[in-house]
Formats: sequence, C-alpha cells, structure tokens
Amino acid sequence: MNTNEMYTRLGVSDAVLRFGDEVLAELADRFAHIDAVAEYNQAKVVGAMQENRLAAQHFNLSSGYGYDDAGRDNLENIYASVFHTEAALVRPQISCGTHALALALGANLLPGDQLLSPVGAPYDTLEEVIGIRPSVGSLREYGVRYAQVDLLDGGKFDYEGIRKAINEKTKLITIQRSKGYATRPSFSVKEIGELIAFCKECKPDVICMVDNCYGEFVDVIEPSDVGADMVVGSLIKNPGGGLAPTGGYICGRKDLIERCAYRLNAPGLGKEVGANLGLLTSLYQGFFLAPTVVSGATKGALFAARCYEKLGFRVVPTSAEPRNDIIQAVELGSREGMVAFCRGIQAAAPVDSYVTPEPWPMPGYDSDVIMAAGAFVQGSSIELSADGPIREPYAVYFQGGLTWYHAKLGILMSLQKMLEAGLIEL
Ligand SMILES: *Cc1c(COP(=O)(O)O)cnc(C)c1O
Repeated sequence: MNTNEMYTRLGVSDAVLRFGDEVLAELADRFAHIDAVAEYNQAKVVGAMQENRLAAQHFNLSSGYGYDDAGRDNLENIYASVFHTEAALVRPQISCGTHALALALGANLLPGDQLLSPVGAPYDTLEEVIGIRPSVGSLREYGVRYAQVDLLDGGKFDYEGIRKAINEKTKLITIQRSKGYATRPSFSVKEIGELIAFCKECKPDVICMVDNCYGEFVDVIEPSDVGADMVVGSLIKNPGGGLAPTGGYICGRKDLIERCAYRLNAPGLGKEVGANLGLLTSLYQGFFLAPTVVSGATKGALFAARCYEKLGFRVVPTSAEPRNDIIQAVELGSREGMVAFCRGIQAAAPVDSYVTPEPWPMPGYDSDVIMAAGAFVQGSSIELSADGPIREPYAVYFQGGLTWYHAKLGILMSLQKMLEAGLIEL
C-alpha cells in the first residue's frame, strides 16, 4: 500500500507531502484531545436518542399541515436533551442560519425594545436583519433599536462599556460564538458563560441569545449549559453532520421557543404545523454523526493553522490556542493568495472538482466574496469549504470536511496551488 502514490495521483507533490507530514507529527496530542471530545459528545447524542425512545416510526414522512408529526416533535425533544434546554425548534422550513437568527430575534423583540451586541459587529448577513445596513423588513423598520459594544484590544469583553450600554429598554443580548468574517478570536463556552452572568447581573430579565453557528460539538458543553436562553444555528453546518439537506435550529427557554414557532408559522399555529417532507432520517442521522464529523473538521482547521503558521502567515486561532469553532482564518495578504488557496480546496472536492472559483458579489455581503466548495449539499460549510470577502486583510476562512482525511487533502491541495503560484516556498 502506498498512500503517497495516491496523493501524487491527486496532484499533491512530494515537497507538499513531506511538509504536511512534518506538521502532523507536531499535532498528535491535540488530535487526541479532539478525539476525546468527540467520544464524549457521541455518548451525549446517543444518550438523548435513547432517552427519547427514538424508533422507526419517527422517520415517517408527513405532508400537508404536518399535524401530529411525532418524528418532527421527537427530533426537537432530542435537540432539547442534547442542549439541556426546555424546548427546541428544529425545522427544514428554517432555510439557513441567518433565517434562524432572524426568527429568534424577530420573535422576541417588540417595537421600542433594544437589542445589544456586547461582542462587536455581528455576522455580515445580520447587518440587514438588524438594519445596521438599511433593509426592507429589518428589525429597525419595526422600531427595534440596536446598540453595540466593541471588544477591547486583544478581543476581551469591555465590561465597563457593556454595563453602561444595558438600560431598561435592553431586551435581548446577542452573542456570536464564532468569529465569522472577522479576525477576532472565537469565544469559548466558558467565556460566553462569564459574559452572560455579567449581563444578567446588570439586568436579570435580559434574554441572552447565542449565535452558535460552527461551534456545536467543538466542546463538551454548549452555551445553553452556561446560561444562554436561546442557542441558534444552521443544519448545513455542524449539527446536520453533513447529511441534513437544509434547516436550522433554535434551542432554549420554552416561552421564547414558543414565540419563535408562532413567528415561523403563524400566531396560534406555532409548533403544531410544518410537514417534515421525508427529511427526518437525514436530520436524525446527521445529528448522530455530527460529533465525529465536527472532530474531523476541527482536526483539519488545526492542521491548516499549523501549516500556514509555519509558512509565516498570520492565522486565527494559532495552532497553540484552544479551538472554539471549526473555522480557521488564514491571512493570505493578497487577492492572489485567496484565489490560489480556494482553487486548492476546490480541486480536492468530490463534487465540482474541475470548476475554478472566482470572486463575485454575493447577496448579503458588502464586498466581493470568493468561495470554494464542492459539496453534496449545496453551500454546506460542514463539508470542505473555504471562503472570504475580498478585502483587507485578505483572510480566507477555511472550514469543514466530512472526514479528517478529506480535510487533510484539501489543505495539501491548497499548499500545492500556493506553491505553483509562487506564493510560498517549501
Ligand atoms: C454561517 C453563519 C451565520 C449565517 O448562517 P447562514 O446559514 O449562512 O445563513 C451566522 N452567524 C455565523 C457566526 C455563521 O458562521
């Protein structure tokens, strides 16, 4: 058996392979820790499925109104068990992460209320949801005000600023776990817990919501274990395990989730309607696989960090820092670097490996974006993918990989394309 020969056939040169092996040798302890987290989380998910007596009947298709859909309801119970919350809304009718977040915000903020982000600017697509960039149907149009407290240098919370920003109008606090398209650090669940405790000390009845996108199963606890009233995410990221074809989730306090269901469907209908359209098997099975899939993606992120760090690029987080999400930012410093990196990721894909990614003006983003993805589920970023807005500091955000081996191939191919473009020397 000669694995190197297989890599050569896929287009990875000896120089890149040798470099990759050197890097991997340094990461053994970190990989062992990632495996231990996955093992714990696998037990957590299986336990929740057993506790909720998951059975074949729960995979049945429902259509039309979807009344009495036991499979849909049980999936929500299982999510609630895993996240240790009173309730959950997990639906294919929630189109994406942005939709889930817009739902959680819109359902729980009323005219005159104030929304506060104590962690700086939110994810790009939320700017229009909130109305930071004017948009039809934004929270701002409905009379919801927005306030933001930026992070201090070094990514620390500005507790003084936050205390000053919280007032009697502050209804909901939104905390984004992952860095998104920023080069600040992502927060650990523990740090989020400290921030929530502080906010609740300032105002005990304030609702704390966490944008959990890309964070699920990276740690053995989730933000809902440290005081979050709602945690929100996308099923084409971590918790869908690569199998969910669409969907989003909101887990949290029963009264808040009830409002989300009223908002998603209609007042009075709530959680009672919503056909599952035959998607439940992939939602359940994806959730079952998610801890393992996330561990592979986390290894890939760490491997990418160490490779590019060794080559002199700034990476966030560094290979020595603990990991709080599956995203790896690599500051490539130029448009050419971003393009070469993304072309490598694309060339490693099982689907659409022959296409060439180009920067384009993507809806919801205010600069051109380049994206590399050759995924079974369109746009799925738990699958191997890389993207980033073409602007300073020309950082590419790498994530996913349904298996560690595939994530590894992606990074090796990115190095190969960088090498061929004369952007690195090995
Ligand atoms: C991906 C993401 C979103 C938005 O999710 P979409 O599914 O792309 O709409 C929001 N917040 C964070 C931190 C994300 O990573």
